[in-house]
Amino acid sequence: MEIISDKPKCHCGIFGIFGTDDAAINTYYGLHALQHRGQEASGIVTRDYNENNKAKFNIYKGEGLVSEVFADSKVFKNVLVGSSAIGHNRYSTTGSSESLNNIQPFVVHYRMGNIAVAHNGNLTNAKQLREELVNEGAIFQTTSDTEVILHLIARSRLNDQIEQIKEALAKLEGAFSLTILTDNKLIAARDAFGFRPLSIGKVNGSFVVASETCAFDIIAAKFIREVEPGEIVVIDEDVKEVDQIKSIKLKDDTLHNQRHCIFEYIYFSRPDSFIFGHNVDKMRRRLGKILAKKYPVKDKDGQKVIVISVPDSSNTTALGYQAQLEKQGIISKLEIGLIRSHYIGRTFIQPGQEKRKIGVRIKFNIVKGVLEGRTIVIVDDSIVRGTTSKQLVNLIKEAKPKAIHVRISSAPIMHPCFYGMDFPSKDELIANQMNGDVKEIERYLGVDSLEYLTIDEMLEAISEANSSNFCTACFSGNYPTEVDASFKKEIYEL
Ligand code: SF4
Repeated sequence: MEIISDKPKCHCGIFGIFGTDDAAINTYYGLHALQHRGQEASGIVTRDYNENNKAKFNIYKGEGLVSEVFADSKVFKNVLVGSSAIGHNRYSTTGSSESLNNIQPFVVHYRMGNIAVAHNGNLTNAKQLREELVNEGAIFQTTSDTEVILHLIARSRLNDQIEQIKEALAKLEGAFSLTILTDNKLIAARDAFGFRPLSIGKVNGSFVVASETCAFDIIAAKFIREVEPGEIVVIDEDVKEVDQIKSIKLKDDTLHNQRHCIFEYIYFSRPDSFIFGHNVDKMRRRLGKILAKKYPVKDKDGQKVIVISVPDSSNTTALGYQAQLEKQGIISKLEIGLIRSHYIGRTFIQPGQEKRKIGVRIKFNIVKGVLEGRTIVIVDDSIVRGTTSKQLVNLIKEAKPKAIHVRISSAPIMHPCFYGMDFPSKDELIANQMNGDVKEIERYLGVDSLEYLTIDEMLEAISEANSSNFCTACFSGNYPTEVDASFKKEIYEL
């Protein structure tokens, strides 16, 4: 038995909408489109009014996929009433994956009213902030780093809520894209490095905010712009037009380089999204093209090379790879050589290695006819532990291909991510185990050749998006912020 999913687990997906009758339903659809950003749990908070016309927040959350958590449509009529909402899809990054309390959005009531927050990213100074708050008497309800944000806001001595939020966010380090709902505002904010994406859209006169633009498409919202790194945007009832959106700088002196997560282009974001100023599809194809330019594969007898992806995540990269092979005069064909089952169910995609132990066969099967006797190129986006890759190779070998070559559209992952991507521990990363020796990984996988893009080649592929604005720390070990190397995912476990 092996691990079914050997990909980095991300982050979370966040969504927010202000001023519409169908706030919760729109949020449901938005979260649905963002399901790839977190499959462990989901939650929606709406802002409604009570009989005295006072703002009241409603919340519904649970474990599982969006469609499972909100399976009962009565929830939208009876619970999630209100004209504004925020929502969150979760894959645990900090905080125990087991705790229901850790499912976002988090809601509290404090002296300025209700406030709810949904967070994508990881705070690198959460441990220190949490210790300070606990020493001052704060009582935490969750083990998540996100709760720190609410405590900092609630403890502010300032009297303007936006100033309180600004003051709190200025104390955070690391990665955060946030949606915040108050009694009368929807607020979105992004850390100054812009690690995680966050965009603003508009539908039927209402403003929406989402991690990725694919969440706008599903509700026919129009993309307006991205929330800038280091920007807080405020949407309230007075905001009717785009230029009325209030924009505040997080800190007055945050003019440093941006550091978008390159993994969003490599693997994580959906190819139909527009993030960091570019279409993901285009960037992913470019990664495939550069991979083919640098590491082409030829059949030793001059026959057609069969290029296959590991569905679904490397489909677009494989398209780019094969198109470039053709351009270089190498006869090739993109084939569907692996069939992926989409109906495994959530039991097998929960975090925690033990729970994910399952043969790769439940997820993939081979199409023998297209692989047999052929030179195969498997294009994939990353290798994390290597266990699934090895199993896939073994599966493909059953079709008796002539040769198997593996091409990876990222550099070897050598270091952990502190900004919201959940890799296993450093010791479990195969590239780290083998000291970055690609030949040794090639031997471990048992393939005819294995090539990764180098960091420079990855950056070359995304040069249109200004490669100097990207984080590559999990490949290079050069972290853009100070990090605590002892940081562990469940550091706050009580
Ligand atoms: S360390 Fe890697 S996964 Fe994490 S933000 Fe940087 S590039 Fe992305």
